[in-house]
Amino acid sequence: MITVVAIDALEYTLVEEFDLPNLKQSYYGKTDITEFEQPRTMVLWSSFMTGENKEKDVLVDGDKEMWDKKWPLEETVFSHFKTPVVLDLPGFSYDKDAHDRSRELLKAYFEAEDDGEKSRIRSEYNSDAFEHHKIVRNEFLKALEGDHDFVLGYFSLADVVGHLNFGNKTMMKMIYKELDEIVSHVKGKVIVLSDHGMKAIGYFGDHSDYGFWSSNFRDFGTPKITDFAQTLVSET
Ligand SMILES: [Zn+2]
Repeated sequence: MITVVAIDALEYTLVEEFDLPNLKQSYYGKTDITEFEQPRTMVLWSSFMTGENKEKDVLVDGDKEMWDKKWPLEETVFSHFKTPVVLDLPGFSYDKDAHDRSRELLKAYFEAEDDGEKSRIRSEYNSDAFEHHKIVRNEFLKALEGDHDFVLGYFSLADVVGHLNFGNKTMMKMIYKELDEIVSHVKGKVIVLSDHGMKAIGYFGDHSDYGFWSSNFRDFGTPKITDFAQTLVSET
């Protein structure tokens, strides 16, 4: 049994700053994603699950269509397991409606002209992200209790909320503590993995050009995101 806690935009420097033991586990570090032209979520998770750089395949129709991309099970590392559960992962099993709603609200926020309107949209955007998080969190904790040889839960909260609130340290710390608490429920071998981190652009957040990993069973050094597929196969 091996569990992957896939956290979008978990930032290495914040995990260090907030000093969260479950996110750090026994070994932790940054991933090297410099082979990619840009730190795009769909490209990075696609590359993780297939063990190959899928930047060209994901961007074949440009950025716009990339969120429709879905990899068949047999092209992913998950096919090596007997009873895998993969929750809400972009490019595989994610709730597209929930993620579309976030992107529409984000767009509306930047298009809104007055502060009152912006603040209303921000609240709606944040509570939407927390609602979705609660659903995935409960599904994940339930999956951990089930009879599975592989469980992956994908958590978008730090990315979604971070884009509009990265300058709000109190809110970001609350989110990181929540993610740390989720990892505390996992038993057996665990990998925590992010696609990219996040850097401040004023009050907002943008993707940083390295990811984060941690593990309770191996020091991966500075791995590529495509290196984890082989590790997962060796655990079957
Ligand atoms: Zn991402």
